[in-house]
Amino acid sequence: MSTTPPPAPSAAVGEWHGGRITERALCVLAPNPSPMTLDGTNTWVLLEPGATEAVVIDPGPLHEGHLRHVVAEVEALGARVGATILTHGHADHAEGAERFAELTGAPTRAVGRGHDDLADGDVVRVGGLELRVVATPGHTSDSLSFALPADSALLTGDTVLGRGTTVVAHPDGELAAYLDSLERIAALTGGGAVTSILPGHGPVVPDASAMVAFYRVHRAERLEQVRQALADGASRAPDVVQAVVERVYADVPREVWPAAAQSVAAQLEYLRARG
Ligand SMILES: [Zn+2]
Repeated sequence: MSTTPPPAPSAAVGEWHGGRITERALCVLAPNPSPMTLDGTNTWVLLEPGATEAVVIDPGPLHEGHLRHVVAEVEALGARVGATILTHGHADHAEGAERFAELTGAPTRAVGRGHDDLADGDVVRVGGLELRVVATPGHTSDSLSFALPADSALLTGDTVLGRGTTVVAHPDGELAAYLDSLERIAALTGGGAVTSILPGHGPVVPDASAMVAFYRVHRAERLEQVRQALADGASRAPDVVQAVVERVYADVPREVWPAAAQSVAAQLEYLRARG
């Protein structure tokens, strides 16, 4: 099924290793590559030049070596971790948070789950670094993005990835919320406040505006394909979700079909709610 191609990723599969990306952002790649996590989870270390307190976004999976590597990278910058922030609660981003808090003594901030709560519009200041919270639910209900105005960058977790497209993780994730979140991000990229995206997986996105435009087109195309699949008979199949996945996601590897099924369920719910 033909769809609009995505912008070329800034690094091919196997060629994204993280490292220094912007003046304030360093990426430490977690050793958990898979079809769902792409090159692995990106753990982001954010530090204002000359400051001694850093912010860490998404410590990643519970992998002692990775967590210690992140601490070592922060120390190599002459700093310590002042706060840890989670983009959302999925294990590949958040599972290591508790252990990371033991290693660093720093508080963990996120939406709910007993963490120091964050909400849309909050400004987080650590060591002179300023981050603005942009609520971007849809992939999950607790998904947050973070604008780093000084570097014109947006950290998006799983809401926008560096390669491929994201999953709307039904039933917690919702398509209507996800589309609204893309609009909010498009407002930031369109206005020039955000020029690059630092994603939760995959390489940095140097042209944020082009990637967000692609994401919006992609979602509209997928929705139209789901509508067409239903009209072509999938609506009468014993397992409607599976029948739609087989028709619409024929072009993606079968290992990601379980995730595709979540996105299809989200799309069916979206269409049902709109008659
Ligand atoms: Zn996720």
